Amino acid sequence: MRTIPGPVQNLIDAFARLPGIGPKTASRLTFYLLKAPAEISLNLAQALEAMRAETSFCSECFNITLAGEEKCDICSSSTRDQELICVVEEPLDVLAIERTGAFQGKYHVLQGVLSPIEGIGPDQIKIFPLLERLKNSQVREVIIATNPSMEGDATALYLQQRITPLGIKVSRLARGLPVGGDIEYADQSTLQRALSYRQEME
Ligand SMILES: [Zn+2]
Repeated sequence: MRTIPGPVQNLIDAFARLPGIGPKTASRLTFYLLKAPAEISLNLAQALEAMRAETSFCSECFNITLAGEEKCDICSSSTRDQELICVVEEPLDVLAIERTGAFQGKYHVLQGVLSPIEGIGPDQIKIFPLLERLKNSQVREVIIATNPSMEGDATALYLQQRITPLGIKVSRLARGLPVGGDIEYADQSTLQRALSYRQEME
């Protein structure tokens, strides 16, 4: 039996490394691109290259920003409440909370969540930069908006234990978000309610 040509197999392998894509979907996407007009593959390649070359992470909150800009729009804004920081797992969570219009503070994007099973400890995500940030600025409250999952809860608890001794109030989004659900997929009113009824962690 003949094997799949190297370049085709390479693309299948590259797709299969993405989250949520198994070997079957990886093959399907690859063979779709093989058959589709060349333009579709080229656009995809260009978009991927531009995404890497033209974006970067904000030096303060670790949200996505344009390459060459040290800080994102939210961190650079003078109208946002500097003393209120909402901690989220991923940049998409920032967008979800921004859509509610109910939050006027700043963010901190952890770029992940603590997960001992996957070997992800505090060093692997942006926890220490957050603690540094809190020590070097006047913050009155940190709202922890990690997902209502086992890892999200563990991360919230870890953060609370580190932040409370700094004399800063720590609160967590109210329940009502579906357990095991993702903040980025929560509907606006649920998220808005979870923000207004956030509870202090004690
Ligand atoms: Zn920022």
